[in-house]
Amino acid sequence: MRRETIAIHGGYQTDPTTKSVAVPIYQTVAYEFDSADHGAALFNLEAAGYRYSRISNPTTEVLERRVAALEGGLEALCVATGQAALNYAVLNLAEMGSNIVSVPQLYGTTYTLFAHILPGQGISVRFAESDQPDAIEKLIDDKTRAVFCESVGNPAGNICDIEALAAVGARHGVPLVVDNTVATPVMLRPIEYGADIVVHSLTKFLGGHGTTLGGAIVDSGRFPWKAHPHRFPMFNAPDASYHGLIYTEHFGAAAYIARCRSVYQRTTGAVISPLSAFLLLQGIETVALRVERHVENARRVAEFLHKDPRVAWVNYAGFTDNPYHALVQKYFGGRACSLMTFGVRGGFEAGKRFYDALKLFKRLVNLGDAKSLACHPASTTHRQMSAAEQEKAGVKPETIRLSIGIEHIDDIIADLDQALAAAQTQRSPLLAAE
Ligand SMILES: *Cc1c(COP(=O)(O)O)cnc(C)c1O
Repeated sequence: MRRETIAIHGGYQTDPTTKSVAVPIYQTVAYEFDSADHGAALFNLEAAGYRYSRISNPTTEVLERRVAALEGGLEALCVATGQAALNYAVLNLAEMGSNIVSVPQLYGTTYTLFAHILPGQGISVRFAESDQPDAIEKLIDDKTRAVFCESVGNPAGNICDIEALAAVGARHGVPLVVDNTVATPVMLRPIEYGADIVVHSLTKFLGGHGTTLGGAIVDSGRFPWKAHPHRFPMFNAPDASYHGLIYTEHFGAAAYIARCRSVYQRTTGAVISPLSAFLLLQGIETVALRVERHVENARRVAEFLHKDPRVAWVNYAGFTDNPYHALVQKYFGGRACSLMTFGVRGGFEAGKRFYDALKLFKRLVNLGDAKSLACHPASTTHRQMSAAEQEKAGVKPETIRLSIGIEHIDDIIADLDQALAAAQTQRSPLLAAE
């Protein structure tokens, strides 16, 4: 099936007991065993079925199958948030004394996790000088457990050459983990270009309405864990935390997600609620249509800002002079994503006046909502970083990040136009209104 169809039907067949066409919300903690032997078989992972919703749940399972199918992966695990997904995706590969190699352009909280939290647990994160494959390759050694990138960096807007990064990883026996939140599987399927693991914040475009947090980890099922027993003992040696189970023997190609679920989700519990899974499924049904409109509206906004003398610069990968333009052609068929950054002429103060004058655009930290959104990264998402760290992440003091919604384009541009006018006045528009 094509992605538009998977988004609506993937992972669900009409419920056999009730004939419900909508995915039922199985709001239950536990599931009854037929007998002691049945319970034992479930716990031995010999019988298929459910035990306890910290491990799996039928509503969440539909979401997992749907997201896996959208990404062209083998299996998925859905968890409470995108951050939980990132944390589990890395912890399932890296342990104390090992390292991961990452591109420098990252979502702010992911940067904090990598730069400050994981190192405290004995996992070092080596940040490359750039997102270029040779900069990544230089940092890989025999303790490296993953290469990490965002397919489209948030908010830097850089586009990673997934195919080249996957080739670097494969040369060293290291999987490539890609956060595909900004691109969405509608625009790009990293697994088709060699990525091994794909991570999502479902909170953003996939849910699409700013109502529900969620995260997903998708496994391609193609990384050869068995070929690297010393680098990845967790998949190849008996697991003491699960009565000696060897994941690659028991689960074959599905070892990665099985371990993520039965080790990390089971013991640390960042579970998504069945109601959230239902709401995200509802959002996903329309993701292909929405992304199409997001992308088209964004192109119109980028062109408007580009020719406006009140705007100092626009960072939008769809322009032919953008350094990532060739990769937009290669991975997105020439259509840039709907996230962009720009700077108002007049620097930080004018930028603030612009931001305060927005009426339709919501001032917040989120992206991928049907609504148009504006964020000032330096004071919010990237606030914990030093000025040097911000610069490396692609954040300037005056940078404004726009997530272009699916409202009528004329209303979107009218709001930007009036806010740009307000930015040119010396007094804050809030004061001027008094
Ligand atoms: C929002 C976001 C996250 C975190 O997702 P949550 O669901 O908010 O935890 C991770 N990566 C990227 C690229 C994001 O935009």
